[in-house]
Amino acid sequence: MNKSFLIIGVTLLSLSITFIFGATQEHEMLVSVYASQYSIPILEDAGLYIYAIEDGYIRGAITPSNINKLTALGYKYEILIPDMVKYSEQVAPGPDLGRYHSYQEIMDTFNLVANNYPNLCHLDTIGQSPTGRYLLALKISENAQQEMHRPRMLWDGTTHGNENIGTEVCWYIMQQLIFKYGLDPSITNLVNTREIWIIPCINPEGLINRTRGTTVCQDLNRDYGYAWRTGSGSGMSTPWSQPETRGFRNFLQKHPFALHMTYHSGATSVMWPWSYSTIATLDSISHAELCNRYHNYTGYSAYQISRGLYVCYGTATDFSYGEEGALGLAAEISTGQPPAVSQIDTIAHANWTASKDLMIRCAYGIRGAITDSITGTSIKKAIVVPNPPNWVTYTDTCGWYFKYVQPGNHAITVFADGYLPKTINGVTVPTDSYIEVDIQLKPDSIAKITGYKLATWICPSTTAAGNTMGFWALGPRDGRAHKLSTRGSVVIEMSRPVMDIIGIDFTVCSISSKPCSVFVSDTGWTGSWHLCAYGTGNIYCDLTTAGTNVARYIKVADANQNYELDAIETGISPAIAELPTYDIRPLILTVKPNPFRHITQIRWQAPANSNTRLKIFNVTGRLVKDFFALTDNQNLITNNCIIWDGKDNSSKQLPKGIYFVQLQNDNYKQVEKVVLTK
Ligand SMILES: [Zn+2]
Repeated sequence: MNKSFLIIGVTLLSLSITFIFGATQEHEMLVSVYASQYSIPILEDAGLYIYAIEDGYIRGAITPSNINKLTALGYKYEILIPDMVKYSEQVAPGPDLGRYHSYQEIMDTFNLVANNYPNLCHLDTIGQSPTGRYLLALKISENAQQEMHRPRMLWDGTTHGNENIGTEVCWYIMQQLIFKYGLDPSITNLVNTREIWIIPCINPEGLINRTRGTTVCQDLNRDYGYAWRTGSGSGMSTPWSQPETRGFRNFLQKHPFALHMTYHSGATSVMWPWSYSTIATLDSISHAELCNRYHNYTGYSAYQISRGLYVCYGTATDFSYGEEGALGLAAEISTGQPPAVSQIDTIAHANWTASKDLMIRCAYGIRGAITDSITGTSIKKAIVVPNPPNWVTYTDTCGWYFKYVQPGNHAITVFADGYLPKTINGVTVPTDSYIEVDIQLKPDSIAKITGYKLATWICPSTTAAGNTMGFWALGPRDGRAHKLSTRGSVVIEMSRPVMDIIGIDFTVCSISSKPCSVFVSDTGWTGSWHLCAYGTGNIYCDLTTAGTNVARYIKVADANQNYELDAIETGISPAIAELPTYDIRPLILTVKPNPFRHITQIRWQAPANSNTRLKIFNVTGRLVKDFFALTDNQNLITNNCIIWDGKDNSSKQLPKGIYFVQLQNDNYKQVEKVVLTK
């Protein structure tokens, strides 16, 4: 590390804040537990934080009060380090952790660098820890105070407070980019053409206390809201429970990233998502390619997190890829916990050379501007889907998008609120370079409001989690669904707030007829929530029911059957006819007269023996009339025709209003809107 740089010890009070000491935490011990990978869920529930799975044993950290649980469960273990905090003090002694930088040094130095290099740096914060310590984010880019059209990439360290070797690598990367700018042509080019962000420390309190978790002992890397579940390392009842993770999400809302690399330690590996499942990401070719390149510089093993390490939930990489579309990567950069001071420079340098390669490559692929075809203004909230990989990415505040894709032929589809969707075919991406594809969208004054971004996905069921895609719940209906998992739920940010109008305000669309509840929030992505509807399949929602007149976020909660959420759209049943899946339907349904006062005649045609059912729902999606399983009651039906008298299942007269007659068999569904005027 540059020695002259370490002399910087000036305390800059502008960002200094009062220290508030949290409650005393138990110091964790490092143990080897003799167990196979099948014991992982049990060990996690017992409080073991797993660093590595090796032949016949699992290495991890656990508190002294939890170690008895292992004994009670019948596991044998060996204590490798009895007190990890004390060990850390031996390895990195002194008030400033020896050559490991202290929190105050990080604050002072990053602030000083930003002040001294205003053309190359812009210092921001992503929020504060519970005791008010800032989480710094440094943008490094030529002309840094301006918003430029440059691919954006993010490095962060020390999500786990005692893994602060990651902070040292971030620090080293910052030094290389800034102090070699203008001297090294390749670095100068990177800073001139990319926007590189560094968050040196996600968990200041853990760094200060030399503990993995925060002052409230929460593991931040189990608190992110994509494929989150309780237990499994999270002691909380909801994701996004900590200000550090909420701040990280808010930061990514402002700055969509092409790449996100997060540093940990405890093993030597470079990894891609998913953490929560062993299914491949749709970007798995790029994910594996980038990690294999990283391996070439560092020697780290390259694998998918869930396959090489273990399955875990609520991680930063699953969030940054799953919800934000950044190519999320994670690297475990040393087995030593912490590595000896003498190893810092070697580790930092290896990771810098590998990261520099990522910086070069992740600007390749596809980029461009999304604009209004009439006014030419940039569209700042567009969903861009290059195919392959057919995974989502977002435009930034300049209306630009960047996506690293493999060379070859691609299509690009764009959705944006108030515009007609558009697909560009035949986009050929060159090798080791990029293609710029600017796309103009035509305004559409009657465009539906649809899901823009996933804010949270709670996934309690491990078995149901294996075959699901969060992004498939966004945009208009397309016959592809995100399976919520049994008792799971999602929060969808709508492309703009849904307003209360007379009748149906929005429809929750499914590809099957399983049950769920629908809640709305007019305040924020973490609630508070108002129940709007409960129903099965497509659910027609009226905000009046929720007692609110606007919904910016909509939460769909499964009612125990793994609800399959295709989309959330404003508008009502006529749109169902537009869905391609239903275009070739062998079901015919007519309701006449419509509107009706006393009786109406429901007629249909359906294939024989196809388990046809006929039901009527009100506008909140509640079932009011379930005629019968038609195949079982053929003798009650005359020529596939039923007279409906506007009464419900208990023969009570229903109030006037809109109702939906739904004809469904095992493969198809047909819905007709009917108006009762009495
Ligand atoms: Zn970690």
